[in-house]
Amino acid sequence: MKPASFRYHAPKTIEEALAMLAEYAPDDGRVLAGGQSLVPTMAFRLARPHHLVDINGIAALRRLAVEDGQLVIGAGVRHQAFYRPVVDGPLGALLSAVMRHIAHYPIRTRGTFCGSIAHADPASEWCLVAATLGAEMVARSARGTRVIDAADYFRGIMTTALEPDELLAEVRLPVISDDTRFGFYEFNRRAGDFAMGMALVTLRLQDGVIVGPRVGVGAAEPHPRRIAVSEELLTGRAPEAAVCQAAGEAAAAGIDPLTDAQTDAVYRRELVAVVTRRALEQAMG
Ligand SMILES: Cc1cc2nc3c(=O)[nH]c(=O)nc-3n(C[C@H](O)[C@H](O)[C@H](O)COP(=O)(O)OP(=O)(O)OC[C@H]3O[C@@H](n4cnc5c(N)ncnc54)[C@H](O)[C@@H]3O)c2cc1C
Repeated sequence: MKPASFRYHAPKTIEEALAMLAEYAPDDGRVLAGGQSLVPTMAFRLARPHHLVDINGIAALRRLAVEDGQLVIGAGVRHQAFYRPVVDGPLGALLSAVMRHIAHYPIRTRGTFCGSIAHADPASEWCLVAATLGAEMVARSARGTRVIDAADYFRGIMTTALEPDELLAEVRLPVISDDTRFGFYEFNRRAGDFAMGMALVTLRLQDGVIVGPRVGVGAAEPHPRRIAVSEELLTGRAPEAAVCQAAGEAAAAGIDPLTDAQTDAVYRRELVAVVTRRALEQAMG
């Protein structure tokens, strides 16, 4: 099917885009970034926006830089930009490892990091990264700018704290210390499919015990989140197989699993135990 008709707008500056969103958002105006989620839903007529504000021509949104200990990712930065580490140390390696699990090459050359965060699919890898590392989302509108913490940003399935007239101008990730280890494990049936369950873990080892663990789980609940019970269980413990197993089981017990035609709650809970354990084993290995 072809999309329903819409009016196309191509701002050249952020200010122009914000003015257009102020005018058109009330009449179902939407941001068009990589188009890799929005365009298919329009083609199926699941979305029928009246206006598209295409941000691809705004050079200022292509920023990808470290500032004040944070990696700043502008709304124009595409998934493929992370193919090689964009920053020294574990953060660059982590983003590069995770990016390889997102869709397929052509989608990665168009889809954007911020588009994924705005779209907020429960199985989005970048949303899991944002939730686990504690990203800050910078939302701009003609009314002003606000910074939203990851803990307040994700609200439900494809639902966020963003208002319809707000542009997610950039996402800021903390640059993690050089001694931070990470593990990422995702399960799906075919390469390139959306994850059925995934976990991201960061931690440090000091004097033979785990310090400052972060355990994030995605594709299991309406939005990815950190699992406090697993983090508490890991803190101060020696990095042993039994500890990984226990933290995985705690994560599985602590979630309220999504179900779908292929995956019931029992299966998804078990998957969470496995992906969490494997991500931890990677981080400790
Ligand atoms: C076959 C296929 C497989 C895929 N597999 C995966 C996968 O495994 N993992 C994964 O994470 N994704 C996957 N995707 C989705 C892909 O990563 C998209 O690129 C991403 O979800 C959305 O980014 P986009 O830039 O294309 O956004 P768009 O499609 O342009 O926009 C998506 C939504 O977000 C809004 N939006 C976009 N940018 C902004 C912004 N800066 N501010 C405010 N609102 C904004 C739009 O208005 C729209 O509502 C897949 C897509 C396809 C088609």
